Amino acid sequence: MSPNRSVRKKSIDNSKDPYLSKVRPGDLATCKKCSAIYHNKRWSLAKKTAQKAAEKKCATVLCPACQKMKDGFAEGFVTLKGEFVKKNRDELVSMIKNRETRSIYYNPLSRIMDISVKRSGAIEVTTTTDKFAQRLGQLIQKAYNGKVEYKWSADTKITRVLWTR
Ligand SMILES: [Zn+2]
Repeated sequence: MSPNRSVRKKSIDNSKDPYLSKVRPGDLATCKKCSAIYHNKRWSLAKKTAQKAAEKKCATVLCPACQKMKDGFAEGFVTLKGEFVKKNRDELVSMIKNRETRSIYYNPLSRIMDISVKRSGAIEVTTTTDKFAQRLGQLIQKAYNGKVEYKWSADTKITRVLWTR
């Protein structure tokens, strides 16, 4: 496979995500909600001061992550269940939140939309990207063992992760 071909494939995949193709105002924009800056075709998090400076020169929009949150459009669903989950609920919830805080600097578009504890004791997490749901599944399994299953839907970018312990 030639390198050109793989590049082309990548850009096709990106354009399939309606939230990524929506935001193309020239090459510079800032998110009015989370202060992410769009530049060189990627989003990154900026300090407030950098965002203020950028706002003067460019469009303010909602970044794909904030837009997905506003629309309630999740691409990743992670469910944790089992006796271990019931007993260690608070620890698991704070571990997941810490993960988001750390990974947001590498990819500001990967975020947690919601964490909820069901009456059954299961924890449900929704994320803005399918990749982040997979990553959480991997990290939880690495930290606590247990059993993890991944399900991808063929036509959409949605991933479901089920971790049981
Ligand atoms: Zn944003």
